[in-house]
Amino acid sequence: MNLENIKEFILKNDNFAIIGHVNPDGDCIGSCLGLWYMLSSMGKKSKVLISDDDVPNFLRFMWVSDASGDENDKYDAYLCLDCADINRIARGGDGFRACAETACIDHHRTNVGFGGINAIFPDAAATGEIIYYLCKDTMGISPKGDMADCLYTAIVSDTGGFKYSSTTGRTMRAGACLVENGVDNAKIFKLLFDTYTQKQMDIIGDITATLTTHLDGKVAAIYVTDELLKERDMRFDDVDFLVSMPRSIEGVEVGLFLKKKGDQVKVSLRSGDKVDVSKIAFSLGGGGHMRAAGITIDGTLEEAKAKVIEKIKEVL
Ligand code: 5GP
Ligand code: MN
Repeated sequence: MNLENIKEFILKNDNFAIIGHVNPDGDCIGSCLGLWYMLSSMGKKSKVLISDDDVPNFLRFMWVSDASGDENDKYDAYLCLDCADINRIARGGDGFRACAETACIDHHRTNVGFGGINAIFPDAAATGEIIYYLCKDTMGISPKGDMADCLYTAIVSDTGGFKYSSTTGRTMRAGACLVENGVDNAKIFKLLFDTYTQKQMDIIGDITATLTTHLDGKVAAIYVTDELLKERDMRFDDVDFLVSMPRSIEGVEVGLFLKKKGDQVKVSLRSGDKVDVSKIAFSLGGGGHMRAAGITIDGTLEEAKAKVIEKIKEVL
């Protein structure tokens, strides 16, 4: 992983905005914070343009409000992490577009490299894995303490706990080193995968009851609506833990989790080992990885589902 261009970018700039994608997940938040710790340890000024409210409840254990910056402030350089395309930047997109010093660090295959300089590694299982090697090998800083926790959380989040096919020996070596450096593996796994609120437990039945199967059982879909979440006083990220559930059904090649948000539907695609869902998502205006991708479609739940299933039918 050659990250010399990023090293040079970091050394020559100060006062960085670290930005990520909309609906930030464990990889996005963990990578941004991990990089913030690294820059802080080098005496560089930086802020993460994620606000307290953007952080899902289950990731609050690693969040630091002090890291959070205002997108309206002036920054000299922008580092965009884990964000597949420029239109998915959550906060700081205008500043990024207007800034002469920008860099992208990402692992999405569909990322065209929209930064001034780019470090796109589709073979990395998580952006956190890239940041780990940036710290350890390129900058010579072995991540410890909170920095290590953030990078471990990033890697574990995007690999489902080292279980997705994106996981490589290099991913595991990063994990092993972080554990050797003091990360509490059991604690982080419990927080990420083994902790539910009563509200989450209660909504599982409602969401699994929406299950439908298609194309001879090769596609399965579940959905949730903004109305149901409002009624339960829950957020969309409170139900993200169900995203892979349809794919777990025997015989399913593509699992869909649809989230109705007003007049739009966010579709999360999860693939077994046959279909490249990044291509399907990309063809409908979204993007992502071979085994996990997403798109937002205008229309009703039924329309969105039909559109995606039609595309899957073409490749199955
Ligand atoms: P999720 O389904 O968990 O939201 O996303 C799965 C993967 O697809 C993530 O890597 C995410 O960044 C990417 N992704 C999700 N939605 C979109 C989208 O609308 N556009 C693009 N380009 N990528 C997306
Ligand atoms: Mn990621």
